Amino acid sequence: MRRAFLGGDASYDGVFYTGVRTTGIFCRPSCRARKPRPENVEFFSTPREASFSGYRPCKRCRPLDADGHPPDWVGRLLERVDADPAFRIRAADLRAAGIDPARARRYFLKHYGMTFQAYCRARRLANAFHLIREGATVSEAASDAGFESESGFRSAFAQAFGTSPGEAGKHDAVALDWIASPVGPLIAGATTEGVCLLEFTDRRMLETQLATLRRRLGVPLIPGRNRWLDVLRKQLGEYFGGTRVAFDIPLVIRGTDFQESVWRALLTIPYGESWSYRDLARRIGNPTAVRAVGTANGMNRIAIVIPCHRVVNVDGRLGGYGGGVWRKQFLLDLERGQGAISAPAPASPPVRRSA
Ligand SMILES: [Zn+2]
Repeated sequence: MRRAFLGGDASYDGVFYTGVRTTGIFCRPSCRARKPRPENVEFFSTPREASFSGYRPCKRCRPLDADGHPPDWVGRLLERVDADPAFRIRAADLRAAGIDPARARRYFLKHYGMTFQAYCRARRLANAFHLIREGATVSEAASDAGFESESGFRSAFAQAFGTSPGEAGKHDAVALDWIASPVGPLIAGATTEGVCLLEFTDRRMLETQLATLRRRLGVPLIPGRNRWLDVLRKQLGEYFGGTRVAFDIPLVIRGTDFQESVWRALLTIPYGESWSYRDLARRIGNPTAVRAVGTANGMNRIAIVIPCHRVVNVDGRLGGYGGGVWRKQFLLDLERGQGAISAPAPASPPVRRSA
């Protein structure tokens, strides 16, 4: 994908989309705009994923038109959203413009995988995410991005991720925030007890993972800050910089007994090494449960920190990875000191510490 994008290969248009972290814009592979540095690019399979990861469409290559020019009325609608994403276009506004809201809904669902209202919400969320990444507080971001209130923002967020806003402040909650990384933005969650979530924002299972987490912990998920998230952000920076080989942070691990035993076993795999699924099954004292171990491995909700990327097939091939095999390769290469593209080489060899 990187080769196709850097080469501007139009035959990949509509196959994948590229987000440029530094600008917050997503493009089709053939975009003629100046190509960004490769380490600032991430890839998405649909405009929906790119939008909900906080990107807005490029005005030059118009990635939403990748499967052909949209009809005029859709083009006008997209332009209108683009001109002022913070403005709420309601059904009455659509009718006034001679557009049947149901038709808009159907067109967007068919071509972009989301309804028109979801697209508008994603655009507002994208703006808010961008501002938060730039250092704005949740309430500043909410108002600058056109949300009428912080609670409106929380609720839009909850709708996007299939959870209800819950009652912030009353009980413990999972604070959710975004952490930029060389392998794309991560969504991180923590309660007052510790970190309970670290996932790639474009992961297909993200919504399911968030719903499971909410059910398991029985507390609402809300965008916000939390001291463990600050610690995690700092330690991830060191990890990607090649200077940290173990995370020193409390984890909130909740799953079935079997899943928890697998996740705890993962924490014992040393930095820079990889085990087979069979090694892992042996470690938990259940050597025939290779397949179940693989499934539990894939259900890990705290990526990188609980190093499920260190489990590979017995023949040494990479095997699967919820965040995409390229990320698994990137993390393993990083840990083996084999030059992750954007991570500077550590000044001295990392000192191995026990987890
Ligand atoms: Zn573009």
